[in-house]
Amino acid sequence: MQYKVGIGYDIHRLIEGRKLFLGAVEIPYIKGLLGHSDGDALIHAICDALLGALAYGDIGEHFPDTDPKYQGIASSLLLEKVSSLVDKEGYKINNIDVVIVAQEPKLLPFKSQIKEKICCLLNLKEDALNIKAKTNEGLGAVGNKEAIAAYAIASLIRKD
Ligand code: MG
Repeated sequence: MQYKVGIGYDIHRLIEGRKLFLGAVEIPYIKGLLGHSDGDALIHAICDALLGALAYGDIGEHFPDTDPKYQGIASSLLLEKVSSLVDKEGYKINNIDVVIVAQEPKLLPFKSQIKEKICCLLNLKEDALNIKAKTNEGLGAVGNKEAIAAYAIASLIRKD
């Protein structure tokens, strides 16, 4: 196949006493995302989109949260592992589009930093990644500041 696309979604609970990481950028906030790893829901959604495009299952199968080796791991390392699978399968990333859904904190001031970080991790040009951030209009767990969710879609293109 010349092209492949995949979708990813993730949600993590916001709790006190954790640092907040989104797109491998530490964002100042009173709470952080709970998780076996650093809880970076955005990176997890991107990993799942890439794994989806490869028909490689999901992040939980590749990096089980029961495995102590992934305890507290930086999600950027997981993304690099997934990126190397894309390469190994003979594909490169064509583009990625993401939506982060967070009632708080305001993410607009961090979007360019997140973009730069993910582009660097995936060796992507800036026009191959788009980041959208929105609130949940005060609705549900995300709107109630109990969680942050992220959606991602990725398209891959054959290298040869
Ligand atoms: Mg996750």
